Amino acid sequence: MPSTAHSDSSAGMSRRDFLSLAGRVAALWGLSSTALPSLAASLEALSTGRVPVLWLEGSNCSGCSISLLNSYPVLPLSVLTRHLSLQFHQTLSTIQGAPAVELVDDTIARGGYVLVTEGAVPTTIPSACRFGGENFGDHLLRAAQAATHVVAVGSCAAFGGIPAAPNNPTGAVDSITFPQSKGVAKPFVRVPGCPPHPDWMIGTLVHLIQYGVPPLDSQLRPLKFFSKTVHSMCRCRKWRTPALPVPGLHGGIRLQGPSTYADCVSRGWNGVATSCLQSHAPCIGCTSANFGKSSFHHWPVAQ
Ligand code: SF4
Ligand code: SF4
Repeated sequence: MPSTAHSDSSAGMSRRDFLSLAGRVAALWGLSSTALPSLAASLEALSTGRVPVLWLEGSNCSGCSISLLNSYPVLPLSVLTRHLSLQFHQTLSTIQGAPAVELVDDTIARGGYVLVTEGAVPTTIPSACRFGGENFGDHLLRAAQAATHVVAVGSCAAFGGIPAAPNNPTGAVDSITFPQSKGVAKPFVRVPGCPPHPDWMIGTLVHLIQYGVPPLDSQLRPLKFFSKTVHSMCRCRKWRTPALPVPGLHGGIRLQGPSTYADCVSRGWNGVATSCLQSHAPCIGCTSANFGKSSFHHWPVAQ
């Protein structure tokens, strides 16, 4: 395996470890125990580099990568993060400069990898984001054409997110619409969120490797994670009558939960410890296509 984000690969992991990982992932997808052996084999393939992953960052803040690292408890997410066959990751890789560019070019030349994109594509100022002297848009197109799948993680990559917020000076476009508009046809998956939950990212990657593209909604989001509204899981609903409009105002706060699809409330963040609503914060719709763009996200500035 070439120099990667984590070069220790799967050293030290036994078949038992992979079966344990498989148990967690199976629970993630609601799979029966009969799926465990094949799932364990898939995880092992991920960890040993047989299924490479190339992770590129465009216009972003790298918060999605940090979310990936914040998985808890130890299995399976942080273990997968340590052992995932990341050919290159702009935030996590230690390799820099010309060798990094060479590594990415070699990976693209070999093809057959899962491309993960984090961040939007600046189109009106293409040079606002560059890698190895190449505008990110061109870089993304080259990488997407040689990939087996393209997974856009985070709302910047999935829908444009914060970089595409009005007045969008760089002309930021999401990293799926952009290659599609240039004629690239691949299986595309959106895993939105600002940031996305680690389970959503790892769960989607593992499903791609083992079973192919998971069932998606009309916006290419995995139904497993994005089929229910945040509002439907809010414990406060029982105290609120009549039913809230969608989206509506409550106590002066414009609520996004009724129109936002994600299982973050039932899944929990930081080792199922909490969620936005459990922290008494409103849902700001971070998994929605209009995140960063709607009037909700642009509070009037006091003069
Ligand atoms: S989606 Fe949010 S956390 Fe992820 S890169 Fe964009 S701004 Fe950062
Ligand atoms: S509750 Fe809303 S803002 Fe918070 S993580 Fe879930 S979708 Fe994003």
